[in-house]
Amino acid sequence: MSKVAQCNIGSTAGLVLLVAVILAVSIQRSPGQELAPPDMVLILCRDGGAPSVWERAEVFALARTLSLSDKVKHIGIKRPTCGGEIGDATCFAVPKQIQCRTAALDRIMRAGTWMISEFKKIGAKSYDEFRLLHPEAVLAAFRYADGIVTDSKVDRLADRIRHEEESESAGSLSRDADTQTHKLMVDFNLAALIGHESAHAFGESCPIADDQRAEAEGLADNLLKVQLGAMLFCPRSPEVIEVRAGLCALRHIHALNQRIASRPRANINLDYVRHAAADMVAFQLLTGWYELASLPRGRYVLLPQKQYLYPAFRVLLMASEIHGSNGRPAVCGEAASLFVHSVQETFKACGDKAGGIVSDEILAQLPAGVEQSWNGKPWTDQSLSCRPL
Ligand SMILES: [Zn+2]
Repeated sequence: MSKVAQCNIGSTAGLVLLVAVILAVSIQRSPGQELAPPDMVLILCRDGGAPSVWERAEVFALARTLSLSDKVKHIGIKRPTCGGEIGDATCFAVPKQIQCRTAALDRIMRAGTWMISEFKKIGAKSYDEFRLLHPEAVLAAFRYADGIVTDSKVDRLADRIRHEEESESAGSLSRDADTQTHKLMVDFNLAALIGHESAHAFGESCPIADDQRAEAEGLADNLLKVQLGAMLFCPRSPEVIEVRAGLCALRHIHALNQRIASRPRANINLDYVRHAAADMVAFQLLTGWYELASLPRGRYVLLPQKQYLYPAFRVLLMASEIHGSNGRPAVCGEAASLFVHSVQETFKACGDKAGGIVSDEILAQLPAGVEQSWNGKPWTDQSLSCRPL
């Protein structure tokens, strides 16, 4: 323990288009072929009403994510303007429907492209080398994604990747390494975001069965106990359906890792994909999944999210599941840095109602340097090292 210090994208809004979801993601409908009614309708609303260049690639990505469960074979797409119904939420679900802001999907597409471009530019061989050469890279990725900074080189890569992803259909999957890397990074993000909403859309029952339990679900049980007591933070009861939806996100990530393992990709740096995706998911879990209009542009703050597990715990669970069974430390680098920051801020906000004791189960997910630094050693880049333990 340690003490803390079919896709006709130019569709008319309101019209439901049917998309067949096949693993290889074929969304072309043969002439005269009738599709079954949708198992899920995706309402992808546009802020301001204008279409995004990423919309077609996003439908492919959403189809890949929903097909992680065998309950979704056909999806319908609607593209209205974002209105009062969605409020300031990123996504929400009602039975058989998930509504999301297109802006949040665009942001993932853009930030993922930045992470690939910068990794190539720096010439790092591993994630650990990359994070030392580019501290807080994930923040820079979202600053690019939100248009705070521009980068024509990343824009050009985005155009190429988008073109490759758009032209994919069954039997002609892109062999381009950047495109494959981008798709996997995006898929981890969507497994976290859409996996959560899927539980709500299926009547608070995850469409991925219990027999495909994620590794991190045991950790989730432990973290729930920690949350309900005062050992670390002040006790707080989350909503049961939100905790269950979080587990459903883990199962989607787990299923994605199984899909990746079943189709080896020699030309992809999977270690980098997983760490970069974990960093992106961690950043968005803590600060929100789209740029909030209430904040000055380019400013990101920790959001209070009372109905869920504490945000630090959600970061730990998601990052750990994205890492999968790939050896310790499961959570390191920028994701670990964001976790530590969130733990410290949450502990501070509890005043004297919390013990600040970090359990061994939590520490086991992290680099040894985190425990050492919490026990008094100065924080350095090496505290968060991703070197295997
Ligand atoms: Zn929810």
